[in-house]
Amino acid sequence: MFEVVIGLEVHVQLNTATKLFCSCPTSFNHTQNTNTCPTCLALPGALPVLNKEVLHKSIMLGTAIDATINKTSFFDRKSYFYPDSPSAYQITQLYTPVVEHGKLQIDFEDGTHKEIRINRAHIEADAGKNIHDGDISKVDLNRAGTPLLEIVSEPDMRSAEEAILYLKKLHSIIRYLDIGDANMQEGSFRVDVNVSIRPKGDEKLYTRVEIKNINSFKFIEKAIQVEITRQSEAWEDGVYDEEIFQETRLFDQVKQETRSMRGKEEAADYRYFPEPDLLKAVITDEMLEKYSKIPELPDEKRERFVKEFGLNEYNAGVITSSVEMAHFFETMMSIKGVSAKTATSLLTVELLARLKGELNITNSPVDANKLGLLAARIDDKTISGKAAKEVLDYLMENDVDVDSSIDTLGLKQVTDTGAIEAICDEIIGANPEKVAEYQGGKDKLFGFFVGQVMKASKGSADPQTVNELLKSKLG
Ligand code: ADP
Ligand code: MG
Ligand code: ZN
Repeated sequence: MFEVVIGLEVHVQLNTATKLFCSCPTSFNHTQNTNTCPTCLALPGALPVLNKEVLHKSIMLGTAIDATINKTSFFDRKSYFYPDSPSAYQITQLYTPVVEHGKLQIDFEDGTHKEIRINRAHIEADAGKNIHDGDISKVDLNRAGTPLLEIVSEPDMRSAEEAILYLKKLHSIIRYLDIGDANMQEGSFRVDVNVSIRPKGDEKLYTRVEIKNINSFKFIEKAIQVEITRQSEAWEDGVYDEEIFQETRLFDQVKQETRSMRGKEEAADYRYFPEPDLLKAVITDEMLEKYSKIPELPDEKRERFVKEFGLNEYNAGVITSSVEMAHFFETMMSIKGVSAKTATSLLTVELLARLKGELNITNSPVDANKLGLLAARIDDKTISGKAAKEVLDYLMENDVDVDSSIDTLGLKQVTDTGAIEAICDEIIGANPEKVAEYQGGKDKLFGFFVGQVMKASKGSADPQTVNELLKSKLG
């Protein structure tokens, strides 16, 4: 009876070398308050100067989401006081953002798609960090003035599932474009979720609640679900008007509930006005031309993998779900003699199953070149697919090359027909009754001979050669 309405605001920290309005480095993990200068400390008289790299990355995002890129955009001042913001205002873009009217496609498991409209993406400066340490709070301004791109969707999502699909797609686009590291734990991809419900069929938007500070896809999904439950229960209990009002809430992961954080400020509370210290941001034709040439995006790559390598949609989706995995696969495929089928199963089945704990595709002890070479050794019949699993186990533990570990483990497949033929003759000679039975029509016995030959070769004979030889010898 209810329809869920969700709109998402995502703050992406851009991976520029320097901050938005000064030349302080943006790097992490430096001693507190060392990456600062009069501008990002907001000392009187210091003036901001726009970092052009931020415009370049905005053009890239705008192109990826098929948006309008405003060649002239403006900065505005949003006033609020908080200890981590020494200027007591934030520089942002309210009236004319750099990017507007984009869209992003989400893909459902059943192969259908939906388009989510993106209202805008605007540039703004990040605040510093408050560090709470027992009874005292400290402020670290290293992050103050770091560039953010805030990407605001239209309220087009109708379930927690759709919201997560949107976020994962956006996350992956940021990574493919390499305009930010989008690390959710470290806060470089921060999501605010706006949730409301309405009676099915109703077109009007009802009161939205904004949930802030959730740092994983799993918790975002849970937070949306519990908030939907809270709102629909209030409706059913007839207390919707008293209990649901526009406010900011927090998600409590332990209690699995959302809790009020503060009432929602109106835009008027921020006393927005055009930033007087900055010129308009201008994107030249040259900039537009250069930065709208963006790398291949996940959807295009997925389709290409299907067409070019014959992958099925599912595997193509798994492999292109992260840019690291896609590049890993492409490196494997660039090695001579590697088939897509072998590369896919070694990567998505064997390697992924072995990457546990701290290990992931970027720090895997077996890199793409090694795994590619292993695939090549399966495809050129040096080893069997079964033996490859043993080699991979060995390579995960030992920093040695593929060929020498095949030798060390003695797993080289015997494709030499002469050697296999000798074993076949031996097995046939040792089992005259079975041969007679087989030739008398007991076809099932063929498997017995294959098994005996494989066993005698300690699994090293190429099964296909064994099959062919036995067929011709037994008649
Ligand atoms: P603010 O910064 O005040 O939160 P924004 O305009 O930046 O305002 O963001 C509003 C977000 O809330 C957008 O993503 C929008 O789609 C979403 N939204 C607006 N109204 C509703 C609603 N009734 N239900 C759910 N989401 C909504
Ligand atoms: Mg908001
Ligand atoms: Zn600075």
